[in-house]
Amino acid sequence: MAKYSSRETDSVYQIFTRDYGRLLLFAKSARKPKAKLSGHLEPGSLSRVYFISSQKKNQYLLIGAVNIFKPEFQFFSHQQFIMFNQALSLLKQFCAYDYLEADQIKQFYQLGRNFLHRLNQLSQKPNKLFLLQAHFLFKLLRYSGLAPNLKACQNCSEALKNKSLVFYAPQAGGLLCGNCAQAGAIKLSGQAVSLADFLLNQNFGKIKKSNFQPEQLNQAWDLAKAHVKYCLD
Ligand SMILES: [Zn+2]
Repeated sequence: MAKYSSRETDSVYQIFTRDYGRLLLFAKSARKPKAKLSGHLEPGSLSRVYFISSQKKNQYLLIGAVNIFKPEFQFFSHQQFIMFNQALSLLKQFCAYDYLEADQIKQFYQLGRNFLHRLNQLSQKPNKLFLLQAHFLFKLLRYSGLAPNLKACQNCSEALKNKSLVFYAPQAGGLLCGNCAQAGAIKLSGQAVSLADFLLNQNFGKIKKSNFQPEQLNQAWDLAKAHVKYCLD
């Protein structure tokens, strides 16, 4: 997920692993020109990594890495670059919690891995790219257990099904009905909320084939972004 330099020729890699979640790996001399590791551990790449625990608590020493998959940056559009950086940054924020359980770690790992592969495949399809990005964000929320409640008003508990207009209230961290809406709330059509529910619960294969209005996707995206901000701030 990230690479930092410590002292003169040492590097620290922040990686996300399938089996252990987020780890910091210390590499001796990885920045020397002939270091074998460089190229195998660039942010956004998928690699098989070998490490040992050091005597210091919670410290791991990197001893080897072999790259399995790298995004094809040379074919990326500007939009893909932005998406790639945003996804890495989000993954870093969501995985910073140390209380993640083994199941969640596997879900995050698979989500990140699938995202990278699909980002590579969907290069010339801007609409599908936006859908991929929205799906990624909703799934991050879901797997973290932070998904917003889309079924009922956060204030009066009235069911929101069949409402043509609802509101996301950043202060309340959830949806409100028309009666409870406050100033500053984000307006959402009922269809946008249905799409948000679809993105939370379906796999990308199904989502890719679905039909929806771009405006619904914009609104669902605004909802997810506002909710991520509420959860992470
Ligand atoms: Zn209400």
